[in-house]
Amino acid sequence: MHTTSFEFRSVPRIVVARGGAQRLADWLPGLAGMRRPLLVTDPGVRALAEPCCTALREAGVALAVFDAVQPDPPPEVVERALALAREHRADGVIGLGGGSSLDSAKLVALLAGSRQELPATFGVNQASGPRLPLVLVPTTAGTGSEVTPIAIVTTGADTKQGIVSPWLLPDLALLDATLIRGLPPAVTAATGIDAMVHAIEAYTSLRLKNPMSDALALQALALLDRWLPSAWAEGEDLEAREQTLLGACMAGMAFANAPVAAVHALAYPLGARFHVPHGLSNALVLGPVLRFNAPQAELLYAELGRHLGLGAGRDETSACTAFIEHMAALSGRLGLPTRLRDVGVQAGDLDRLADDALLQTRLLINNPRPLTRADARELYASAL
Ligand SMILES: [Zn+2]
Repeated sequence: MHTTSFEFRSVPRIVVARGGAQRLADWLPGLAGMRRPLLVTDPGVRALAEPCCTALREAGVALAVFDAVQPDPPPEVVERALALAREHRADGVIGLGGGSSLDSAKLVALLAGSRQELPATFGVNQASGPRLPLVLVPTTAGTGSEVTPIAIVTTGADTKQGIVSPWLLPDLALLDATLIRGLPPAVTAATGIDAMVHAIEAYTSLRLKNPMSDALALQALALLDRWLPSAWAEGEDLEAREQTLLGACMAGMAFANAPVAAVHALAYPLGARFHVPHGLSNALVLGPVLRFNAPQAELLYAELGRHLGLGAGRDETSACTAFIEHMAALSGRLGLPTRLRDVGVQAGDLDRLADDALLQTRLLINNPRPLTRADARELYASAL
């Protein structure tokens, strides 16, 4: 059901430009005249960042680089980047990388601008701002982090803290498809499916789904469904890469306003306990969760299916089933592992996983069908 009154927030400026990352200097004057930015990135994309850094320096920008972001960054990584920002007297932050780099960049901009301590920002709307001017440049087509007000830090062996605040939305999100040409097929598949899950869960989000998030989710899902297989099969296909980047960004805008639900709730414990990458975790539990939700979400899944050209002219139940089976088969078609046992999960782990999933109340309240601990265990068991 659509809410009749709602709020929709997003970033003020999105630029889609092939090769745009090498022309970053063009946009800095519009960002409070940024002259001394800190670029936050990770070792895996350092080579991609290099030409951008050279171009910035040639344009007379006094750039400092922090390139030590790691996957699932702990608070110490953010603190180290923050120390460098202060030492450099940075007047802005540029995040370039996957979700972990972008999340770290958001937090550095926030903490350098607000002088708040990191733990004080944990939770929803605890960050007080202001922040330094912020540019985000994704190098995967998946998380949508460049347009979401969320950052995640890993605070313990299997615990994470989320920071949710409009202060984390950047001033500019730059989508440059040339940056993602080199992604390996398995990463392309997993991150792309994650983005599709963002669109699906936003479209069926129980409380905050609204006409604007719906429009974005539908278009995002159609783009990803059409172009992800091409981007996976032919990494150098720039049009396919650009369309998936756009799809992931639109899905991010949707779920930033209509939050994700049980697929993500069941995926997080796989990341925390088994270090399964986020996109793959989602792909592994997607089919079982969609089948579980079907009794309450049949109409919406049928709408999504028809939007993808599935189940046309058939009744709701068959259109819904066609959609679920299409999505459930996708990870296998794209060569990803399809069973939890493929990533090291055993029957003896199911209770612990179910306990952890139930802790994700922030997500579960958005699920179209209420989910008990027994349900969670059974869903993991069916994915085993
Ligand atoms: Zn996700």
